[in-house]
Amino acid sequence: MSDDLLGERNMSRIVPETLSITAEQLHEYVAAKQCLRNCEACGANTWEFPSMNGVPALFTMASARDVSFATWTFHFNCLNCGNTRFIGAGFVWSYFFEKGKKA
Ligand SMILES: [Zn+2]
Repeated sequence: MSDDLLGERNMSRIVPETLSITAEQLHEYVAAKQCLRNCEACGANTWEFPSMNGVPALFTMASARDVSFATWTFHFNCLNCGNTRFIGAGFVWSYFFEKGKKA
């Protein structure tokens, strides 16, 4: 994802498109990217993401330098030990909406 993508023109698309990402799409993304391998903390392979009203919960992490800047993430919890993995929502958005899907 390039910096140009975060221009004002694209932000009007990125926000609603990111909010539209479904649980099925998030499952598709992590399967395609193979990014939910065994937990590095405990070795289990039972991951779950929190959802709200049937869609994956989105979290923000604000910058301490400028609270008007925040990154959006989906996160997955290891159901055995609670280890948490963050997946940048922009990468998921890019996979589904930027020039089609990428392997
Ligand atoms: Zn674990």
